[in-house]
Amino acid sequence: MSDAPPRDFIRQIIFEDLESGKHDEIVTRFPPEPNGYLHVGHVMSICLNFGVGEENDGRTFLRFDDTNPGKEKAEYVRAIERDVHWLGFDWEDRLTHASDYFDQLYDSAERLVETGAAYVDSLSAAEIREYRGTLTAPGKNSPHRDRGVDENLDLLRRMRAGEFKDGEHVLRAKIDMASPNMNLRDPALYRIRHIDHQRTGDKWCIYPMYDFAHTLSDAFEGITHSLCTLEFEDHRPLYDWFLDQLKPEHRPRQIEFSRLNLAYTITSKRNLNALIEGDVVSGWDDPRMPTIAGMRRRGYPAAAMREFVKRGGVTKKDKLIEMGVLENCIREQLGESAERRMAVLHPLKVVLTNYPDDQVEIMQAMNHPNRPDLGTRDMPFSRELWIEREDFLEEAPRKFFRLKPGGEVRLRFGYIIRCDEVIKNDTGNVIELRCSYDPDTRSGTGTSDKKVKGTIHWVSAAHAVPAKVRLYDRLFTVPDPNSVDDFMTVLNPDSLETVDAVLEPALKTLAAGQSVQFERLGYFCTDSEEHSAEAPVINRIVTLRDSWAKIERQAMSG
Ligand code: ATP
Ligand code: MG
Repeated sequence: MSDAPPRDFIRQIIFEDLESGKHDEIVTRFPPEPNGYLHVGHVMSICLNFGVGEENDGRTFLRFDDTNPGKEKAEYVRAIERDVHWLGFDWEDRLTHASDYFDQLYDSAERLVETGAAYVDSLSAAEIREYRGTLTAPGKNSPHRDRGVDENLDLLRRMRAGEFKDGEHVLRAKIDMASPNMNLRDPALYRIRHIDHQRTGDKWCIYPMYDFAHTLSDAFEGITHSLCTLEFEDHRPLYDWFLDQLKPEHRPRQIEFSRLNLAYTITSKRNLNALIEGDVVSGWDDPRMPTIAGMRRRGYPAAAMREFVKRGGVTKKDKLIEMGVLENCIREQLGESAERRMAVLHPLKVVLTNYPDDQVEIMQAMNHPNRPDLGTRDMPFSRELWIEREDFLEEAPRKFFRLKPGGEVRLRFGYIIRCDEVIKNDTGNVIELRCSYDPDTRSGTGTSDKKVKGTIHWVSAAHAVPAKVRLYDRLFTVPDPNSVDDFMTVLNPDSLETVDAVLEPALKTLAAGQSVQFERLGYFCTDSEEHSAEAPVINRIVTLRDSWAKIERQAMSG
């Protein structure tokens, strides 16, 4: 018996279809509409579609659903391609567009007309809505429903030729105006829109509707399993109706799964766009955005994203996944790979009164506590240092093992220091600490066996590199912003804090997009847009799980 994890229900269906010989090759597709940037929900769909393709030596298409001219932009197309590649997937030569099939789609529409399965309606949009009925009342037939095939064909061809204005006619499937499933009440197949398309220009003035174009594109590409989210369950009878009517060579099967929802965020391109329009964020790639571009800029590793959706699984049940699940995947990835460095986010000056004025010592700092292969780096140590403001407390509780008046603490990779004097400004704020260092306690080589309970990080003031560091928090204050009437009312006003930090000099050479751990503070990454060696801009990817427990543990063990 293998101890592989159980397959999700979709992989089980695919497995059975291969076992039974129903298919000998699996073909899937990821079909985004290029009307915005991809988000964390799409990550799931991408990993599922490309994942089952790869696992079964099958093929996966990246197909742009560009049936909505006007809303779609080349910028979005480029962003989507970049995002799918970044996640680690390759469509090879299978990049397609629904618009690639406009000719075939139109031919299929004529065939439906010829078999009496579609007709041209001339009711206005408002009338069509009225005739459609409601969930509780059946619809009624349009007076144009029984037009003859020749008339329909003639009208359709003239629609295509541009003889009519937008909305004058519409091509509809002839199914059942009394169906309990509203999707089957003679859905529209083609509407007139005198608007240029970004790929086909002015060739068309009629455009196919989503359901029609989507089903047939799947069939044309030989998709075996058309995987989509649960809201399309009610569309499946229509999907199958098209296939029954047109009998294409390949018959795809639609299977629905539940959407991935991430707590404290929203995932609809339209709503994400509202955040941009409302100046809540700086753009699609703002590091707080749940977009792939935002998460990449924030420093989330692609492997962590893939692991995250794997843990979420594929089911039919609605789920709201905790942010912590995503953050843990990121910590696990970066914990192994990210080198350690020191930075001080809220600097407080420490002067070592007994340290020679012009002396500089070079401390050897380990780049990773459990990976000696990552080596060490030089950290200059001098008379004036920066420490974290919160590592000093004037009125400290007994269990506070960091710096307090008269107290001692170890400077990591440095010496034990004692706080002798607290300097304040006119308003009573602490602006400097006068300390003395114990020369016998140098890390590694010191002769003293003195032990203290706290270890803190520091940066030599004379060597410090100033940097803008951005600390992020969740964008919303409630776990499910979609459940409130207006998500704009539950924004977290503190989702971004920018601090003037100081970095150890080794951080001068951080490459663009490189991630490091700032000891005790979290994982950080240079900002791909704004960072430069001269003016560093660094984003916090994620905090450490439990920085205090960890540092206290280290202190206890010497
Ligand atoms: P949005 O409302 O964000 O625009 P969408 O479903 O309209 O989402 P599409 O570009 O049409 O976005 O979606 C491409 C594919 O991604 C579809 O198959 C869709 O079902 C899937 N998808 C979208 N959102 C999610 C999600 N939250 N979880 C899983 N799959 C999703
Ligand atoms: Mg959409």
